[in-house]
Amino acid sequence: MKETPAGSSPDSEKLLFQAILDNAPIGIWFLGLDGRLQFVNKTFCAAVGIPEKTFLAAKHYTEVLPLNDPAGSTRSDAACLAQEGPHQSLEWLTFADGKAHMLEITRVKVLDQEGSPRGLIGLAVDVTARNQAEERLRLTAKVFENTLDAVTIADSEGSIIEVNEAFCRITGYEREDVIGRNPRFLQSDRQDAGFYKSMWRAITASGHWRGEIWNRKKDGDLVAEVLTISAVTDADGRVSNYVGVASDITQLKQHAKQLEHIAHFDALTDVPNRVLFADRLQQALARSKREGSIMAVCYLDLDGFKLVNDTMGHEAGDRVLIEVTRRIKDTIREDDTVARLGGDEFAVLLQGLHASEECMASLNRLLEAISHPIEIKGKLFEVSASIGVALYPGDEHDADTLLRHADQAMYVAKQSGKNRYHLYDAANDRRARSHHEFLKRLAVALVRSEFELYYQPKVDMRTLRMVGAEALIRWNHPEKGVLLPGEFLHAIEGTTLEVELGDWVIATALKQLDTWRKAGLPLELSINISARHLQANDFSWKLKRKLLRYPEFAMGSLQIEVLETAALEDIPRVSDTIERCRKIGVGFALDDFGTGYSSLSYLGRLPVDTLKIDQSFIRDMLYDKGDRAIVQGVIALAKAFERKTVAEGIESEDLFRALLEMDCEYGQGYGIARPMPAAELPAWLEKWNSAPFS
Ligand code: C2E
Ligand code: MG
Ligand code: MG
Repeated sequence: MKETPAGSSPDSEKLLFQAILDNAPIGIWFLGLDGRLQFVNKTFCAAVGIPEKTFLAAKHYTEVLPLNDPAGSTRSDAACLAQEGPHQSLEWLTFADGKAHMLEITRVKVLDQEGSPRGLIGLAVDVTARNQAEERLRLTAKVFENTLDAVTIADSEGSIIEVNEAFCRITGYEREDVIGRNPRFLQSDRQDAGFYKSMWRAITASGHWRGEIWNRKKDGDLVAEVLTISAVTDADGRVSNYVGVASDITQLKQHAKQLEHIAHFDALTDVPNRVLFADRLQQALARSKREGSIMAVCYLDLDGFKLVNDTMGHEAGDRVLIEVTRRIKDTIREDDTVARLGGDEFAVLLQGLHASEECMASLNRLLEAISHPIEIKGKLFEVSASIGVALYPGDEHDADTLLRHADQAMYVAKQSGKNRYHLYDAANDRRARSHHEFLKRLAVALVRSEFELYYQPKVDMRTLRMVGAEALIRWNHPEKGVLLPGEFLHAIEGTTLEVELGDWVIATALKQLDTWRKAGLPLELSINISARHLQANDFSWKLKRKLLRYPEFAMGSLQIEVLETAALEDIPRVSDTIERCRKIGVGFALDDFGTGYSSLSYLGRLPVDTLKIDQSFIRDMLYDKGDRAIVQGVIALAKAFERKTVAEGIESEDLFRALLEMDCEYGQGYGIARPMPAAELPAWLEKWNSAPFS
């Protein structure tokens, strides 16, 4: 702008003022009382994009000016004219850029010489940007105060200059406590110096850091936070402030911890569950490999637990499980792990052993601890444990296999009498498993009626008359055909199936006897009974009940054959049972006689009616003098003790004659008849009666 020389003409004065007004950085206008604009400066015209002419031509400025609230403007005009001094208002209008701008408008009343109002001067300043900045600040302050996150603002030295409400709530400190301090006072010992070092390295390098951190509150408690620290730089790129924003995740952490606990621990006993045990097992395996130490994986199953549950209810069962867990925990070492795998099954991991003896000692302590009676509701309960053990190294397998092997070994411990441990032995346990499978198949066979009794006739050697038969069991196997007892009976020895099958033999034999009786065949029937079955407490009682159903049977219709060797196992008990059975008309024979080396005194004490000479002596007696002497001896012995003799295994007529000469009373053997199904017996008998040995 050119300088205006002093003392110039009124015209040039006017130009001067015009130039000043036009170039002022604010909008300026003069409004007449009629609402017509008499002057508008260029700044305003340019800003709103309306030519001066248009303004000056308009009857009322509100017709051309894109005001947000024209009525409001008119009211402000009126208010200004009515008051003393300047009038201020904030008004929105749309500028040439298409955007709404906020104007701070000052209106000043202009009077004429008489002092009456002539119009008003308007001065408009665009305060949009200022207003926005203020708005932003207000908002920021609101967020700062109301956010749930703790916000800490520190200066470039790290001293706190401001904290928000949430900071105070989370940490428990008052604002006054912390201003001017370094946030270091919040540190807990959950993080080491290295942690903070790397945190500051990140802030220096990239301007920020984010991570989880445990801080200490004013009351000493710990708080878990997700913390973001940002460095704020000034225009020159120098750090002016540090801002920390932290959210409290303590509850989340606790919740996660609870969830993790639920996922990894047994709810009843609070020891690790299968999942965590698998984890510990993996670690232990790695440790054993590293240290070269021995580790034992034990699978533990309670014996007698079902009884507690069934008789005392689940609550009592639970208490037993808790007590057993406590005892196991007390017995093992700190390093070892006990886990509940479910039901009454536990796993124990013994680590860092130096010799397998150490493991055996621990196992014995475990068995001992568990087997002490447990008192529940005033009653004492005895449970024990069957433990299977897989040792590493030795059993060079992965964790899963080790546990499976321990499980298999546990099964063997159960089978061999419970309250004991069994070390896994690959070959042995495979055998045990297949044995188990076979047993299961036999039980199925019984249910499916795959067993049948064959009958081998027994004849009076002098008269050649058939006096009876021996019932011999056969298994009609659907795939393998007819199986002999030697092929399957050994498997059931000592199991409950042995007694079940024996009971079936008795029932079937009695039914057969009855059929023969009804058909007019007053035969004797011998059945083979295992020693164990015979020694069952209720044997004679059960037999009596079965016999009561057939009151028509003659005394001695049923005879029981028991192996000589078996009878010698427990003479008092066996002879007791024999006595009871004899009272109800059941006879007894010592089977395979001669193989048991029974002394004369034993024979005197066993109240049997018959001795069955073992077929091994009969077979060769025509050539073997020794065998012949034994047969001769047994016959003489039987006579002396007033027992009958039956020779078994007579395969030929020659043998038959020789035995007859030796005064043997009864005979049985292929030479007379092979064992046969009941249905074939009548036809054989007819043939035998008409032409024996044909
Ligand atoms: P055992 O009681 O001594 O029965 C005689 C065995 O000799 C039978 O074999 C019979 O078939 C066989 N035998 C008969 N005569 C001759 C012959 O002239 N020559 C030869 N070489 N053998 C002959 P099986 O039926 O195989 O029975 C074997 C053993 O199995 C029986 O010996 C008996 O101890 C046992 N057994 C058979 N059935 C039963 C049963 O129902 N229960 C029990 N617990 N054991 C049974
Ligand atoms: Mg027999
Ligand atoms: Mg025999």
